[in-house]
Amino acid sequence: MKKILFVLAAVFISQTLAGAWPWDDYASLNLREAKESQKYGTTNRYFAATNQSTVSTVKVKDPNLIPFGNYKKIDDATFKAKISKDDVQYNKIKDNLRKNKVDDYNTQAYPKDFYKVYRIAERIIRANNLDYINWRIAIRKTTDGEFNAGSSNMNYIVIYTGLYDTLSDNEDAMALVIGHEMAHQLLGHGQRTAKILRNLNRQYDFATDTYANFDTAMRNAIANTKLQKMEYSADIEGAILAARAGYNLDSAKETLSFINTLPYVGTVTLSHPNPEKRLRNFEENRQYFVEEQWKLEGKYNIYNSDVLQCNKSSDRTSIIISRGSAKNQDSYYRPETVDEMLLRYAYKSYKNGDFEDAEKYFNKLLKKDGKNPILYLYLSYTYEYLYKQTGENKYLEEARAAARKGLLFAPDNKYLKEQSAVL
Ligand SMILES: [Zn+2]
Repeated sequence: MKKILFVLAAVFISQTLAGAWPWDDYASLNLREAKESQKYGTTNRYFAATNQSTVSTVKVKDPNLIPFGNYKKIDDATFKAKISKDDVQYNKIKDNLRKNKVDDYNTQAYPKDFYKVYRIAERIIRANNLDYINWRIAIRKTTDGEFNAGSSNMNYIVIYTGLYDTLSDNEDAMALVIGHEMAHQLLGHGQRTAKILRNLNRQYDFATDTYANFDTAMRNAIANTKLQKMEYSADIEGAILAARAGYNLDSAKETLSFINTLPYVGTVTLSHPNPEKRLRNFEENRQYFVEEQWKLEGKYNIYNSDVLQCNKSSDRTSIIISRGSAKNQDSYYRPETVDEMLLRYAYKSYKNGDFEDAEKYFNKLLKKDGKNPILYLYLSYTYEYLYKQTGENKYLEEARAAARKGLLFAPDNKYLKEQSAVL
């Protein structure tokens, strides 16, 4: 009897592990599997974000008094002439990379792959004034096809062949990868990570009695919540760097779409956030992007800089993109300040027709800079639209008050005068 029970149990368990209950047929099993595939199927996950709603810009008053970026418009013909001059240089560099070869392709990428990575990175570097240092970019051969990239030491970027090959026909996506890795370095994420880890170790070493349960898993969790935030911001800053270089962010998003198909486990144990959330972070922040202005700014920066030389490095697995000719320190890239970011949020919220958000952000800025007539002008516009939307008189009064305040600081401003008259 005992033996029979055991056999029955074994049958039951093996059937369960196989996925089908003893009384089920395989048709039912596959029906259940179909349900899982809807959730995990890579096609669905790859296209998950493409259907997300994009912002519909509404027509609002905008005398273009809030500038983003420091640039003058370069007309197409002038820009084209500059690009064809640059092309002569690029062709020389291409030849040079080809000449200078080491015939061990187990350790070294092909010259054409180096050249492709160089062109994308160089465009980002010039468009964003990042040419104060030599940048190094490696292509690392991985035999398991791992989709990844990394960065360290302020100016060193590694692209794994698994990622390179997957995105090789999508330069926009590759630009987002390179931009993301540069962003980590530009925003000081290496330094911050080192500090976070050092602090956690110190607490562990010196306060063992107090933090008896402060084990490694706990420390990992604390570190990872911070590291994950840096990933979100590197995605956004990377997108901005790529946008300035004129890359198409709709197409660049493929990088994140592909990551969304990769196996992902848990949140606490990993330094990288859930890819679905990364996609949402990307979409939500794009509402506040001023892509058109950034593109013009990048064009201006490229026009005003020369081709950066490229050579194979002494380690044979990377290239060196040489620094440009020295400029004034102030003209190099700086991360956006909180106030600059707030201004962008305020302006774009207004342009997108999110007047409540616009009101919030413009008022936040006015708390810090209460004498800025342009901020009052846009705040007055914002209140005017809120009044039109809701019919509430308080908004009309606020609109009038904002215009009046603006006129205090700029009595001759024609837009403020107009706005005052309209109200
Ligand atoms: Zn990252």
